[in-house]
This record gives sequence, structure tokens and C-alpha cells, in this order.
Amino acid sequence: MSEHTQLAAMLEQSNFKWPDPPNPDKLSVCVHCGLCLQACPTYLETGIEAQSPRGRVYLINLVNDGLMNINDAFVDPVFRCLDCRACETACPSGVQVGTLIEEARGQIRQAQPLTGVKGMFSDLMLKKIFPHPDRLQKIGKLMRFYQKSGLQKATRGLGIMKLFPKHMQEMEAVLPLIPEKTSREALPPVVHAIGEKRGTVGLVVGCVMDVMFADINMATARVLARNGYDVVIPQAQTCCGALQVHAGERDTAKQMARTNIDTFLAAGVEYVIMNAAGCGAAVKEYPELLHSDPNYRDKAEHFTNKVRDISEFLVEVGYEPPKGKLNVKITYHDACHLAHAQKIRTQPREILRSIPGVELIEMADSDRCCGSAGIYNLTHPEMASPILEAKMANVPDGVTYIAMGNPGCMMQMATGVHRKGSDMEVMHTVSLLDMAYRAEQGLANESQASVTQREEARA
Ligand code: SF4
Ligand code: SF4
Repeated sequence: MSEHTQLAAMLEQSNFKWPDPPNPDKLSVCVHCGLCLQACPTYLETGIEAQSPRGRVYLINLVNDGLMNINDAFVDPVFRCLDCRACETACPSGVQVGTLIEEARGQIRQAQPLTGVKGMFSDLMLKKIFPHPDRLQKIGKLMRFYQKSGLQKATRGLGIMKLFPKHMQEMEAVLPLIPEKTSREALPPVVHAIGEKRGTVGLVVGCVMDVMFADINMATARVLARNGYDVVIPQAQTCCGALQVHAGERDTAKQMARTNIDTFLAAGVEYVIMNAAGCGAAVKEYPELLHSDPNYRDKAEHFTNKVRDISEFLVEVGYEPPKGKLNVKITYHDACHLAHAQKIRTQPREILRSIPGVELIEMADSDRCCGSAGIYNLTHPEMASPILEAKMANVPDGVTYIAMGNPGCMMQMATGVHRKGSDMEVMHTVSLLDMAYRAEQGLANESQASVTQREEARA
């Protein structure tokens, strides 16, 4: 039977009626053992089987077998999942819960497209803004104007933010100061290697990272150049599409993936470097996303083989240990999409430990989700909030920095720090390494200045 005939037969009984359904082979791997339950934040919060990995896989199976319709009892657990992949680490059978959830969301969005204000907002963000870096840059400029013109001060002074839900007030309070220039604007097309050249890499500047955390992209480029790599920043690159995949907007995500694949393959780089865990995981899964596209299946594989998280890359190729001293206590938060999705745990710790003067204090359950999960903290604040509380309870006292490798986690953990009234700072691992390199040259304070600017905006 041809692949096409098999799909047709499958769709006939299945209530997943659209292309790109959850793969039944992946569903059948689940043996219902329940070993994943205690790893799942939404199950731990609710105690409800449908809100567990096993429950979700079971529901997807029912719809696939035509025994359940795509209704609220299905949609809610599928969208309440954080897509944190903690269950995948716990699962002895290797069930790819994250991919199944993402494919199920794709079916839901085709069966029940969002309508009204929700539909307009979703289309605006996922199709009209994020895939277009120039539009995102303009929004960044508007946000900076809001922060710098006195409007933010006035808004806060007049208590206008109190009209918004609590989680939005908290997010506004920790919004970093938007840098004057995005990293695309600030970085040259190529940042040249310092000293003997070891190779050429491409840098994915991302969307949120480019606009809100440009200093992290700059730090990444400096660290790579310092270690002998030319860093190419192709202007045609776009956002990775992770937000779209998580929201079930798979066609938009596929188009973005094709753009990035073509752009970085044309750039002729040996490696493609990522510094956002969620984006890195999404980009490494482009072959899965494009598995049914005969024109891109192989290209996606070729491209993905080049992709590395910055910490993974530095440890793999070898990096120069910094000589600058930081004299700080640091704890490390494992971003879900670094630890669970990409299996990167030791490399960031190795980098932090290599910084003279750093005392790394492990936090309990360091790979437990912080509740950020893309925009989950905005769409499901009632669940994200207690998950953040549980996370913050594990942050050791007395640390100066909470290090991590994902901008979404940085925003969420900054909210947690703000709630605690603590003066700890959230930092990207690569920013700390960059700070140590710059400390060698007496420039650490400069490097710290961009971080302090972020903190100032939260004051
Ligand atoms: S997803 Fe894995 S751990 Fe969870 S019930 Fe299925 S087989 Fe067991
Ligand atoms: S991805 Fe996370 S939230 Fe979703 S089922 Fe797995 S552990 Fe639970």
C-alpha cells in the first residue's frame, strides 16, 4: 500500500481529518506505565489524569481511533500542556509526547480555527508580526519609546496597570529595557574571529532575543569571535517558528523553517549557533516538521546537523577558559527545551564552573519547568503562576545570579525574583562567560551595564 493510500485509510477512521496528524506509530509506543506522571507539572498541580502525559497520549489515541471527537474535553488538556518535555525524560519507552501534542494542536486549529478577537490577535501575532523581523523591530521601537518617554512612568504613577490582570502587571513590571538597536542593527554582517581563525558559524538572532535581549546576541557573537570563529549574521533569517508550532499554526511555521534552512545553507557556514533553548529545540526538529515535504525533508536534515546550542558548541569544539574573575555565587536553571528536548545539561554547568571565582550552587529540581513555556504564562496564568512559585521555592538563598539559556525562562524567573522582592539577577550563561572574558580586559562593568539597564527598566 502506498504512503498516500495508507494515510487515506487512516484518516477515514480517525477524527484527525487534516494533513500532518499525530503519527499512530508514536502513539502505540506508550505502554501506560505512568512513570511520567510525577514529572508532569500540570499533573502535579491538578492531580487529573487527563492533564498528565499518559492521559494526553490516551486522548490523542481515542481521537485517532475515531472514538472521540475534537471537543473541549480534548482541546483543554492538549492546550494546557506546557510542552515542557519533562515526561520525555521520564518515559522509558521514548514516547515523543511533545511532538504528538504539537501535531494534535495543528489538527485542533484546523478543526476549530480561532474566531473573533482571539482569532484576530492570534493571526496578528503569529502570521503578521513574528514572521517579519522588520515589523517586530518597529514594535520594539514603540516599546522603547513607551519606556523612555515617561509614558511608562506615568502609566505606573497613575495606577493604570492595575486595570490589567495581575499576571500582565507582573510581566510589565519585569519588562527589560528595550535596547536602542536590535542585534541585527548593531552587529555587522560578519563578526570576525579574534586571533587564528578556526571556522565560520552562523548566528540565529531570533525574534524576542533580537529585540529585547540584543545584549545576549552581542555577547554570543563576542564569545564565538574570541574563540576563533567568524560569525555570520544573515539578514534574511527569520524567527524560528517555535511559537507557531506550539500554537498549532504549522503551515506558517513550515514556511519560516524553509526560509531559515535556505538562508543558512546559502551562507555556507559550518555550524548554526542558537542561544535560546526553545528556538534551538524547534530548529533541531525541522526535519520532523517538514517530514511530509519532499523538497525540504533532506535539506532540513542537512541543516539541522549543523545546529548547536552555544553551550553545546563551546564544549564540543573547546573554548578558552576565561581568566577574568567574577567572585559570585550562581545557581543554574535547566530550561526545559535545553535539558529535556535537547539533552543539554552538563555543558552550561561546565562553562559556569570554568569561570574563576564562580561558586555554582545547584538548585533542587533544576530541570522543573518555570511556567514560561513560550506564551503559556500569558494564556494559562492560573497554571503558570503556581508552577513558578514551586520553582522559586527551590532557588537557593544568597546567590547573585540565576543562570539559564532561554529568554522566555529569563522573563518568567525575573517575575519570580520580583515577587520575592529579591535582588538576584537572571542571566544567560553566555553573558556570564562574556563578562568573565571582559573582566580580563577590565571591561566587565561595561558588559554588566546592559544587564543593569534591563534591571533599571524593572525598577
Ligand atoms: S508516556 Fe511513557 S512513561 Fe508515560 S505512560 Fe506512556 S510509556 Fe509510560
Ligand atoms: S510536556 Fe510537560 S506539561 Fe506536557 S504532558 Fe509532558 S510533562 Fe506534562
